[in-house]
Amino acid sequence: MIEALAVQMRIAWARAVGRRPRLADLEATVRLARADCERFGTPGGLQLVSVFTPAEVRVLQRRALVRTVRNAVTHVPYYREVWGPEAHRGLTLERFAEFPLTTKQEFRANLGRFFNHNCRRFALYQHTSGTTGAPLGLYISYNELESWPLTIAVNGLLTGEILPGDIQQVNLSSLAQPDWYVTERGAVLAGAVAVMQGTVPPQEAIASLMEERCVPGGRRRVNAVVAEVTYMVELARVARAMGLGRSDFEVEKVRLGGEPLIPRYQSFIEETFGARVAASWGASETIPTMGLRCARGNYHFDEMSGYLEVVHPDTGKPLEGDATGVLVLTPFYPGREGMPVLRYRTGDMVTRLRCGCGLPENIGAFRFLGREAFNYRQGASCFTQVDFLEALSQVEGVRLPVRYWAQAEGDATVVDVQVDEASAELERRLVQTLQGMGLDRVKVRQQTTPHFRHVPLRWEKRVPPEALEQPKGNARRGRAAPVGREAGADAGAHG
Ligand SMILES: [Zn+2]
Repeated sequence: MIEALAVQMRIAWARAVGRRPRLADLEATVRLARADCERFGTPGGLQLVSVFTPAEVRVLQRRALVRTVRNAVTHVPYYREVWGPEAHRGLTLERFAEFPLTTKQEFRANLGRFFNHNCRRFALYQHTSGTTGAPLGLYISYNELESWPLTIAVNGLLTGEILPGDIQQVNLSSLAQPDWYVTERGAVLAGAVAVMQGTVPPQEAIASLMEERCVPGGRRRVNAVVAEVTYMVELARVARAMGLGRSDFEVEKVRLGGEPLIPRYQSFIEETFGARVAASWGASETIPTMGLRCARGNYHFDEMSGYLEVVHPDTGKPLEGDATGVLVLTPFYPGREGMPVLRYRTGDMVTRLRCGCGLPENIGAFRFLGREAFNYRQGASCFTQVDFLEALSQVEGVRLPVRYWAQAEGDATVVDVQVDEASAELERRLVQTLQGMGLDRVKVRQQTTPHFRHVPLRWEKRVPPEALEQPKGNARRGRAAPVGREAGADAGAHG
């Protein structure tokens, strides 16, 4: 107990003064949390807490921004040139909002100039670019490499998402190597067994969930899954098509990310596997600032881990209050060491809001609306990816996960939607649903082939299309080709 208190005090102090917590303290936290879970069970639920008032948070955030900007303009060539070496002097929140945004394109084009030259030990990770298939090097420092899995382990133990004795199957792409490494190492540190599978054809993942394991400790089958949202929905759909249901699995918990989790997806997964679903928002470029999804479906983040802004999609100007726009993030120094970013335009649409779910007011909340690239405009109206997903997923006969594509033809909007079986009745209902969403002059084309031009699902570019239509009973044989057909634009929040 006294050791736990001393460790927590040292970590809290390090954060308050902008120092990196000692790895030994983080390791001790994992060890103590694990021992507590083994003795008393997990506290469960979201564990975001804050001891500061909103006014105090503003003061601390300004100080954290000064430290973060000073570090970047001193040690990172890109920011030294673009923001200027004196950018941190007299910095206020208002002045900060006047500096240019960093876009994903700039980050990719200037990768070598984003290195923190004050960082001694780097560990290289390859990271796919998604659009060309050529890997992009994302450099992570040794400290980041060690501390991120420890954070995942502590969070997993406190929320009950990862517990000693769990068998956790990981269906994230092995090409997203930071994700892959952090998830695997985090599970092992928490005392779980990690089954690293990747985005294999759904039948193979389902067979693995049903497989009897010879793991010491009591469990026979996988009881936890980590995956991208639409991959898990696809698993649920294929499992149902194979006549399988909750009695065939022992999955208790599913942890999802990478894409918006809409209510229909959540209930579809929960009903199929009999598992509870948790989700988070994150991007490789802005780890460790993360959003955790609450019971109301909104994402909460620790305002002491990074600074969140919402900007207008066209002008890039900051929007005040409970606004809808593009999420811009600045992870605080020293959380991001190897390649720090300032005012990073994530490409995700969000609404900033007060959630009211009971979490402290000074823990930021936003609703995740999908990728900015999939916004569809008609006149003055803008429809987000989530607008389409939520509306279309409610229509019976639409195949889950939802695959759609909206485009203007003259002054009308044509929406292609993948359905199980086309019919005039279904077309009428789809038109009605889209009109209900606020779209005018809308036509629907029902698509029954598995691969028409659609808003790409994150994992599909890594699984060859023929694997999706693999006949039943073939689940154990044949592995996925390493890289599948190119699905189009990069849909990834982690891209
Ligand atoms: Zn909430």
